[in-house]
Amino acid sequence: MSGLLLVRGLVLSSMPIGEYDRRVLLLTKERGKISAFARGARKANSPLMAASRTNAMGEFEIFEGRNSYNLQNAHISDFFEGLVNDYDSMVTAAYVAEIADYYGREGLDASLMCNLLYVTYKALEKGEVDKKLIRLVYELRVIDINGECTDFFKCGICGKEGADNFDKKDLRLLCDNDAQGHYTQKISPQALYTLQFIVTAPLTRLYSFNLKPELFKELERIVEAIRQRAIDKPMKSAQLL
Ligand SMILES: [Zn+2]
Repeated sequence: MSGLLLVRGLVLSSMPIGEYDRRVLLLTKERGKISAFARGARKANSPLMAASRTNAMGEFEIFEGRNSYNLQNAHISDFFEGLVNDYDSMVTAAYVAEIADYYGREGLDASLMCNLLYVTYKALEKGEVDKKLIRLVYELRVIDINGECTDFFKCGICGKEGADNFDKKDLRLLCDNDAQGHYTQKISPQALYTLQFIVTAPLTRLYSFNLKPELFKELERIVEAIRQRAIDKPMKSAQLL
């Protein structure tokens, strides 16, 4: 199969190739994660120069050859330029993109991931929500989208609703009955509500709150345990956070 494709998504990363070209890693709604060659993207006046910038989001026209994709043209709707004004935003955005890269696959619809990236970058640009909290919320939501999140609504053994003991070994919630004999920790009602909110809230409301330091710490321990199980690869950008 070969031909012209129109895909919507964003540039996760961009790498110079040779003297004038670039290779871009795109996360797209229609085709998942794809790598495309942008010929001449580093020449002045090239229409591909802006389109091949990291974080550029919009519509991309791609020629699908037998063995490769070539970026032909693009209509960029957002560059998220506000991200570069602040070091923490920039590094958090890089981390967010790295995790999207980790989960992205060619041929796997990435609509949810693209929408999540959009609202996450917007929240980082706005600067109203603590960046550490943005990172935590993103981690949990992206893990949930990929089907690897703890069920925060019911007991992982009997299925009863309202379980609030976190099983630190198997990373599940247990009711008081089933918690006996397991290494568990009570989750506070506010923390449980917040975890449930993060995995179910509409994306437009996902980054609409801040947390008191104590509550954040409680959530951080839980989310970190879940992340370590789900994402078994160190992220380069995490060292900068
Ligand atoms: Zn139970």
